[in-house]
Parts: sequence; structure tokens; C-alpha cells
Amino acid sequence: MASTPTLFATPVAAAPAQHTAAAAGSRTPMLKISDLRVAYGGIQAVKGISFEVLEGELVSLIGANGAGKTTTLKAITGTQPVAFGGIEFLGRDIKGQGPWDLVRQGLVMVPEGRGMFTRMTIVENLQMGAFVRDDDKQIEADIENVFGIFPRLKERRNQLSGTMSGGEQQMLAMGRALMARPKVLLLDEPSMGLSPLLVDKIFEVIDEIHRRGTTILLVEQNASRALQLATRGYVMDSGEITMSGAARALLDDPKVRAAYLGE
Ligand code: ATP
Repeated sequence: MASTPTLFATPVAAAPAQHTAAAAGSRTPMLKISDLRVAYGGIQAVKGISFEVLEGELVSLIGANGAGKTTTLKAITGTQPVAFGGIEFLGRDIKGQGPWDLVRQGLVMVPEGRGMFTRMTIVENLQMGAFVRDDDKQIEADIENVFGIFPRLKERRNQLSGTMSGGEQQMLAMGRALMARPKVLLLDEPSMGLSPLLVDKIFEVIDEIHRRGTTILLVEQNASRALQLATRGYVMDSGEITMSGAARALLDDPKVRAAYLGE
């Protein structure tokens, strides 16, 4: 495996697009999902999907409401039991491990709904994000780096997070995840419920975080925006992956355009 990307390194150009995971040759996947199956009682929500995320990639998992995207992320992060299949992070089996253990290893999720500590201030939430770290001296510097990405959070650093707007909470949730210095960041519907202006801002920021070296798996219903940023994409429908490939090719595909881009 190549060296671990450093989140707050000097911005660099995004990793070159790989049209398929196989085209990446011997690069080890950061995240590898094999034949994953998840059920809620008798309902099969995820029906044997396989995909991978390579170092430096931004991979978008798109699909309509109810396709099984959130369930997939919950299974990866150990908050939903897996009926069958493999989940590997950095080449190690992580199936059954909980979110705290995974954050320690560098796999960090920003859930839909954001999960803020609403009675804590912005700064306190960011400090909580660094709970797995023991390099105290760097934490203050990283908070400043988060403020560099999200100036709005700096202006409101002492405000209780529960009193912030939806867009500000989404920014804080992403900032808090970055404080753990993730190797892979899982984003669940970050644009959900935001005004068009804030949607623009959130996608700009995701692009910037990727360019600074963080590998990202982005789950989105906003297929157009998610594929515009991505290296590769997977399309999920009724618990199955129905299409995959270079993000540009998916964006140009008439079936994707008809089903997910409203054309
Ligand atoms: P959304 O964008 O709406 O979150 P999604 O693609 O993330 O959609 P999931 O939330 O993973 O889809 O849901 C997949 C299927 O599993 C849906 O049919 C949904 O109704 C069902 N489901 C999700 N959560 C539960 C639950 N807790 N109990 C029972 N069924 C569930």
C-alpha cells in the first residue's frame, strides 16, 4: 500500500481517474465489499453487492430513495448486522466492528442526519471528533484547518451546534469527521435538505477534501453532482448494483441520464 494520505497536506491535484478498479493494476483497495447482503427481518435491502474504493479515489454510490445505499453504509460501519459477505478495510476484515473501532483505524462516516452533539459548541464538537487521537498539539492546528475549509464555522465557533441551520450542521458534521484524520471518509447524502446555494458549497468542499488527499465514498441521490466530482461510480437499484464505471461514462450513459438525471 502506498503512503497514507494526509488530510491537511498542501492541496494537490486529485488522483488521476481510473476507469475501472481493475485498471488501477496492483493498487490495494482501501475498502473492498464482496457479495454483501443485508436484511431487515424478511426484507432483503442489500442483495449481494460488490464494490471497491481505491486509494485517492472519490467513488459515488448513487440510486433512488430506498435503493439500499444507507443500509450499505450502515453495514460497513457495523451499525446494521450483515447477513452475508465480506467487508475489508486496508486489507483487513472489519465485518462486525463498531463505529468507534473503525474511526480509530481511519474509517469515518458522516451519517445522514448529521448526529451533532447539540448542547456542545462548534469548537467542542470538533474537539470530540479528535477523540481517537493522542497528538494534542496538532488538534488545535487541525481545528484551524477545518475553519479554513468552513469559515462559517469559525465565525460561530462558540455557538451551540443545536441552534445552527441544516447547512451549518452538515459543515460541522464534515469538519468533525475530518478531525479524526480519516483515511476513508463515508458521506451519506450530504446535500440532503439543503438550499441550492448550500448544496453548491457542500459539493465544493467535498471536492476540496478529496483534492487534499482523502479517499471518499459518497452516497447521494443527487446523481448529477455526485458523478461530476467522482472518479468512478456505482448505480444501486432495489438492493443491487446495476451499473458501474468511470463517473464520466456514467454521466454520459443514456440509461443513467433517463433514470437519475431527470432527462
Ligand atoms: P434513502 O436515500 O431514502 O436513505 P437508501 O438508498 O439509502 O434510500 P435504505 O435507507 O438503505 O435506502 O433502504 C433500503 C430498503 O430497506 C428500503 O426498502 C427501506 O424501506 C428498507 N429499510 C431501511 N431501514 C429499515 C429499517 N430500519 N427497517 C425495515 N426496513 C428498512
